[in-house]
Amino acid sequence: MTTVPADALGSAKETDDGLLEVHEQWMRQALDLAAEAYDADEVPVGAVVVADCKIIGSGFNRPIGACDPTAHAEMVAMREAAAGLGNYRLTGSTLYVTVEPCNMCAGALIHARIELLVFGALEPRSGAIRSTARVLENSSLNHHPRVVSGVLAEESAVLIRRFFKTKRV
Ligand SMILES: [Zn+2]
Repeated sequence: MTTVPADALGSAKETDDGLLEVHEQWMRQALDLAAEAYDADEVPVGAVVVADCKIIGSGFNRPIGACDPTAHAEMVAMREAAAGLGNYRLTGSTLYVTVEPCNMCAGALIHARIELLVFGALEPRSGAIRSTARVLENSSLNHHPRVVSGVLAEESAVLIRRFFKTKRV
């Protein structure tokens, strides 16, 4: 079902049988949010926080519109989830994001005690999970979220490529 080339992105296979379908379902919600970012002329990334089979926070990338360098999709979604729960810890939650998180967002999801991170496309330049710093693998941390990558990666990557293509014209 997934269009991810497993050898390149390596990881849709990290999911247990059947779980991939669930991950794709939530990732589609994140992709819808990424499309909203695209429409707002922001780099198209979307994110949802899921707990107990429902979305408790959602967001899309909007640093330009919000005049906020921290307004990445993951941060917006985690802020909403934490505010809704009245708790700065999102223990037991899953964060779905269309593109590999950066250093800032990787740090924030550790602070939030996100249990599982599911992301789509790799971000070769600023991705801090697999591509560059591998922040979550820091052995000095006492919280290590599990990671699944490559879920609907091609859809996410296509949106990003389309966005930057319009910028180059
Ligand atoms: Zn980020």
